[in-house]
Amino acid sequence: EIGGSARLVEYVFVGQRIAIIEDESDIVEMVRYNFRKEGFEVESYSRGREGFEALRRNPPDLLLLDIMLPDEDGLSVCRRLRADERLKSLPVVFLTARGEEVDRIIGLEIGADDYVVKPFSPRELVARVKAILRRQARPAEKGETIEIRGLRLDARTQDVLVRGRPVGLSALEFKLLHFLASHPRQIFSREQLLDEVWGRDCYVTLRTVDVHIRRLREKIEAQPDQPEYIGTVRGAGYRFLAEAERRES
Ligand code: CA
Repeated sequence: EIGGSARLVEYVFVGQRIAIIEDESDIVEMVRYNFRKEGFEVESYSRGREGFEALRRNPPDLLLLDIMLPDEDGLSVCRRLRADERLKSLPVVFLTARGEEVDRIIGLEIGADDYVVKPFSPRELVARVKAILRRQARPAEKGETIEIRGLRLDARTQDVLVRGRPVGLSALEFKLLHFLASHPRQIFSREQLLDEVWGRDCYVTLRTVDVHIRRLREKIEAQPDQPEYIGTVRGAGYRFLAEAERRES
């Protein structure tokens, strides 16, 4: 159980949101089933315009985009995404029919990240999506200064600022927060945190992790019972929240 790196990689995807704009319900259902199985949340739209507006309100982590849609086609939706401040870096994977203009899709003009040709294997699509999300979720380098949503951690001086206000953390609290913030979104079990932060040879109980998380929240969160930075994942552990996830905890 402890520190299994293969399992750790999979944890990265739990709770990540995939949106699909596609008018063929069989494909939507297949995508929904296969991505949910892997821990993703899936939301679907059958029209280009409706989909675009929904993405703007609440950007997902990645978009699967059909080309032939009843109203606005996928290429046009993608162009609009790239021109939108909130959505311009949203990863997009096109679902294309054979014979569609693949060169244009993946070219600079449209700015898609990848594409699959229908009929595609769900397993391959899931693998490609995971590869794109993994590239995006590169952990911060050790010792790097981290700045996320008003939280600033300077690894050299161990200074911590929350919205410009200095916060005094113990060395252990700093290490715990820096570790979580270096791996945003990844869920760590209490065993893994003990291993990574306290060290393998340290014999403390799992409860110790909860106590330290509680103290950290009291110091850095405006409302410790509605944390903005450190989320609890029931039955699994803790993770540093990405911006779109604050509602979850
Ligand atoms: Ca279609």
